[in-house]
Amino acid sequence: MTSQRTRNRLIDRLREQGVNDARILEVIKSTPRHLFVDEALAHRAYEDKALPIGFNQTISQPYIVARMTEVLLSAGQMSSVLEVGTGSGYQAAVLAQLVEKVYTVERISGMIERAASRFKMLGLRNISYRHLDGGIGWPERGPFDGIILTASPMHIPEALVEQLVVGGRMVLPLGIENTQELVLVKRITTGVETEVLEKVNFVPLVSGKT
Ligand code: SAH
Repeated sequence: MTSQRTRNRLIDRLREQGVNDARILEVIKSTPRHLFVDEALAHRAYEDKALPIGFNQTISQPYIVARMTEVLLSAGQMSSVLEVGTGSGYQAAVLAQLVEKVYTVERISGMIERAASRFKMLGLRNISYRHLDGGIGWPERGPFDGIILTASPMHIPEALVEQLVVGGRMVLPLGIENTQELVLVKRITTGVETEVLEKVNFVPLVSGKT
């Protein structure tokens, strides 16, 4: 159920949906997504589906992980990326194999502890994590070349824009549940440029820690 054949099928599906970056597809193929979901759901880990990860949260569908990663990296290499919403740690684990350094923050402490143990188990040493309200970013570690949000705010968080280098890119879902859009924000010298990409469905960005 977690066999190479099942993983290959997932990669074919991502390709059909327009994900072209061979490096990203290779990383998704070799990252053990079954270790990021509850054991009872491990047999469904290579379906292109969002799955529950406890605390009322979900691990994103592989297509969305691939697409957001591709959009983030499509203008070239990045050395530092901030992720807001660690969740299971899967998106961070994928990114860690494609960029030099990943910073990831999560507001639910039980969630980040579990993610951290997965990073350790997989030997992903270039991920720094913190139990933080990510709406305010992680200013001590910024500025970042890229920022990715895996929970949806109502507006582009100004604090995060400020933690992007000029020329940096932020990929995020924006808006309320069921009407969200995936948005690319580019920081330029005079402000930001935004581009709406496609409809998505993420959990909301919630302020405060728990
Ligand atoms: N990237 C994750 C999916 C995360 S689901 C993965 O690969 O599994 C979204 C996550 O964002 C949830 O864990 C939720 O607790 C977290 N979140 C929501 N609001 C947040 C905030 N303000 N700061 C940090 N994390 C937040």
